[in-house]
Amino acid sequence: MIKNILTNKCPNCGKGKIFKNSNIYFNFRKAEMNESCPKCGFKNRKEPGFFYGAMYVSYGLTVGQGILTYLIASTFFEEKFDLRIIGIIAGVLLLLSSFNMRLSRILWIYLFKNYSR
Ligand SMILES: [Zn+2]
Repeated sequence: MIKNILTNKCPNCGKGKIFKNSNIYFNFRKAEMNESCPKCGFKNRKEPGFFYGAMYVSYGLTVGQGILTYLIASTFFEEKFDLRIIGIIAGVLLLLSSFNMRLSRILWIYLFKNYSR
């Protein structure tokens, strides 16, 4: 299942794609989703506004990555609060923002896949 999440696969059949672009990582073009799975017809968007909830997932991912980046980056600096660390964190989060948006939506779909029928 984790493999299906990371490869942008339908939670129902594991074959169809959730996002039309196959590369969900570091892809800065607009993310286009399939409204429903092209293979099995599983509805990705349950209701209008369904993906507002995915923003909370995205927020959680961002916070986690920010902390992780800080922990890694701080090992390269003498001072605990070097301003350059904040710059690095901001840069990393910016790079990951597009990825997070997609991943959070996929996670959100998987979270609610059992309530769709
Ligand atoms: Zn499917």
